Amino acid sequence: MTDKYDNKGFATKAVRVGHKRTAESEQSEPIFPTSSFVFESAEQAAARFGGDEPGNIYSRFTNPTVRTFEQRLAALEGGESCVATSSGMSAILSTMMALLSAGDHIVSSMSIFGTTRVLFDKYLSKFGVSTSYVKLIDLDDWKAAITPETKMLFLETPSNPMNEIADLEALSELAKANDCLLVVDNCFCTPALQRPLEFGADIVVHSATKYIDGQGRCIGGAVVGDAKRVGEDVYGFLRTAGPTMSPFNAWTFLKGLETLDLRMKAHSASALEVASWLESQPLVSHVFYSGLPSHPQHELAKKQQSAFGGIIAFEIKGGKKDAWSLINALEWLSITANLGDSKTTITHPATTTHGRLTEEARAAAGITDGMLRLSIGLESVDDIKADLARGFAAIK
Ligand SMILES: *Cc1c(COP(=O)(O)O)cnc(C)c1O
Repeated sequence: MTDKYDNKGFATKAVRVGHKRTAESEQSEPIFPTSSFVFESAEQAAARFGGDEPGNIYSRFTNPTVRTFEQRLAALEGGESCVATSSGMSAILSTMMALLSAGDHIVSSMSIFGTTRVLFDKYLSKFGVSTSYVKLIDLDDWKAAITPETKMLFLETPSNPMNEIADLEALSELAKANDCLLVVDNCFCTPALQRPLEFGADIVVHSATKYIDGQGRCIGGAVVGDAKRVGEDVYGFLRTAGPTMSPFNAWTFLKGLETLDLRMKAHSASALEVASWLESQPLVSHVFYSGLPSHPQHELAKKQQSAFGGIIAFEIKGGKKDAWSLINALEWLSITANLGDSKTTITHPATTTHGRLTEEARAAAGITDGMLRLSIGLESVDDIKADLARGFAAIK
C-alpha cells in the first residue's frame, strides 16, 4: 500500500490514513451503512465478483468505513494487510481457521486471555488442532514444546494480569527456525506502544474492544500481517464465514485510533505513578508492572515498548478476603472485567477472568487469591490513588 502518509509520523497516520474523501467533501470519515453496492452494468458486476476489478460488492467483506479502519490499523502496525472482525475472539478464530489444518499443533503461552484458552482447548481441538502451553518467559520451555506438527507460536505480551514480557526477537527466531508462524495478541500495548511485526512476528491480532475503542463502547477485532496470509487467507475466511465488523463500529474505532497515541501515553504515565505508590503500601506484598525498575524484565520492556501501558496487577498480603474488602470499599472505581477504558477498572482475576481455569492452571499462571488487577483510566491520578487508599483503609 503506497499512501501519501507512508513516511509520516505515527500520530499523523493514526489521524489520517485510509480516508478517501467522497464527492461531498466531508472532513470526518463517513459511515456507509449499506449491505450491498450497485454496479453500473452486468459486465461490471461480473468483473467485481470475479476479482478482475477492485471495488465494493457486499458489506460482509467490502465496506468503505471498515476498509478505512483496516488501512489505518495496518499502517500503524507496519503490516501489509489488515482484516477487521466482529470481536477480538473472532480475530483469533479467523486466524486459526485460515492458517491451520487438522493435525497441526499450536504452542501457546499459558498466560493468555482465558477465553482464548477455551477456544483452543474446547473448540479447535474438535477439529484436530491441538495446543500445548508453556511459560511465556521461558525460552527453553517453548523449544521443548515444539514438535514436527507445530505450525504456530501464540502469545500476549505483556501478559494479563502479571505483566510478564515475552522476548519477541528470540521467539521469532525460534519460530523461523521451526517453520512456524509467530502470532502476537497486541491488545495490551496497541501499536502506539509496541509493534510486534518490527521484532519479527508474522501476525498481530487485536481486540479493538479495549484500547483501540478506548471508551468501552463497541466490540471488535482485527488481524494484521502480510498480503498473502492476512490479505488473502484470513480475508478469504472472513468473506466466507462472515465474522465481519459493522461499519458503525469501524467508525467508532477510527475515532479511537485518532486519539490512541495520546491516550496510551496518558494511561502509561498514570499507571506508572499508581504502581510506584502501590509498591510503598504496607498491605501490598508485590506489584507487577513492567515500568517499575523492580520488575525482572524492565529492560526488555524498555527495548520492545515505548511505554508500559495501563494494566497493573498487585497482591494483597491478606489474600482473597482482604482483596474483596478493598474492592467493596471503593467509592467510584468500576468493578468490571473490561480494560483499556477511559474509566479505571478493578477486578479480582482468581474469581472472575481466570475463574474458569483449574486451580493448577491458575497457580501456574501465577494468579493468587490476593491478586487484584487495575486498568488505569484517564481520570485524575490523585483521585484514583485516593479511592484505592479508601480500599486499603477498609482492610481489617
Ligand atoms: C478482550 C481480549 C480478547 C478478546 O476480545 P473480545 O473483543 O472481547 O472478543 C482477546 N485477547 C485479549 C488480550 C483480550 O484482553
